[in-house]
Amino acid sequence: MDKQHPTPNTQHPTPNTQHSTPQFDYLIVGAGIYGASFACKARQEGKRCLVIDRRPHSGGNVYCEKIEEINVHKYGAHIFHTSNKEVWNFVNSIVEFNRYTNSPIACHKGKLYNLPFNMNTFYTLWGTKTPEEAKAKIEAQRKEAGITEPKNLEEQAISLVGKDIYEILIKGYTEKQWGRKCTELPAFIIKRLPVRFTFNNNYFNDIYQGIPIGGYNKLIDGLLQGVETRCNADFFENRQYFESIARKTVFTGKIDEYYNYKFGQMEYRTLTFETQTLDCENHQGNAVVNYTEREVPYTRIIEHKHFEFGVQPKTVISKEYPSEWKSGSEPFYPVNDDKNNALYQKYKDMADKETGVIFGGRLAEYKYYDMDKIIESVLNNFKYENKSKNHRMLP
Ligand code: UDP
Repeated sequence: MDKQHPTPNTQHPTPNTQHSTPQFDYLIVGAGIYGASFACKARQEGKRCLVIDRRPHSGGNVYCEKIEEINVHKYGAHIFHTSNKEVWNFVNSIVEFNRYTNSPIACHKGKLYNLPFNMNTFYTLWGTKTPEEAKAKIEAQRKEAGITEPKNLEEQAISLVGKDIYEILIKGYTEKQWGRKCTELPAFIIKRLPVRFTFNNNYFNDIYQGIPIGGYNKLIDGLLQGVETRCNADFFENRQYFESIARKTVFTGKIDEYYNYKFGQMEYRTLTFETQTLDCENHQGNAVVNYTEREVPYTRIIEHKHFEFGVQPKTVISKEYPSEWKSGSEPFYPVNDDKNNALYQKYKDMADKETGVIFGGRLAEYKYYDMDKIIESVLNNFKYENKSKNHRMLP
């Protein structure tokens, strides 16, 4: 862990019992991207913040662990990308970013394909050499499937890239990733991936992309600089106390847990990682290789050094295994199907009535957010607070 990381501390600050003014303006529950960005902005505005996190480290799922001098993305690969200049300037004001461009490879039954779906993929699969040829192939497969208005992920995928690509590169991967049939999953998930009729293997369409130089801990440490941060501190174990020491709570954990699962539990997907150090310099020649067939139990192998163009003598790889979230594991992905979205709406209706709590981030908003969108929402939140500053006091 980098030296700026706060020492884990389970002690509580002294509560202010004599005065009615709480000790902190904000209690921020969760030291991930939302919590750390919020703390940074609030500190810049002179607000007193306490950030707590139940894990022994800050950073949430972007936290990296150094192994063999390589920054290992302990909770899965994170690649920062955005088209929002304000967000890009904000993160770059904290740490410099490298020029990493994500170009994953997909492996299906021993054969390699380029991602996202582009002219290279189409050529490998069909031998099509022009956009016109590739489009004609997709259109024929879409027509044959008889899809006009895609109603689920399967139909959306076939209508975007045709049946061959769906069968080879999407179906198996998606059903492993989500533990559900593609016909039971929302279409928007597959729309995250670009489909291009150019020979361009960049996984993202965004203008800006990169990895913090020195790893994500540098970004988190920078965001939390000058902010009191306590790790190993579980909000739910001392809820009354924590709520009493701040004027407002910023909650970034699971919203159903915040409301004590009053309406029932929402579903999440979790990931487990099998990480190995290998005595070779370069194992797979790329940071990300997806294994798209159902029979391979993991979804991808990450070779961490390639995110930072590492030249260390050894290498570290992680196999990623998705499964259903259970209490005690880390929630990674909300399962935004109709059933869960309806449940979330009930919690959201309660959240909307709160005056002293801000809910933000993937878990509190039950949304498949990317990092840049989380920061964007924090920045917007501060714009709103500023605009309304003259009209209302914080509760
Ligand atoms: N996906 C796929 N095949 C791949 C990569 C992705 O079918 O080789 C689908 C899959 O449904 C996945 C979704 O695209 O859940 C979004 O992929 P992304 O890479 O954005 O997922 P993340 O990195 O957030 O896990």
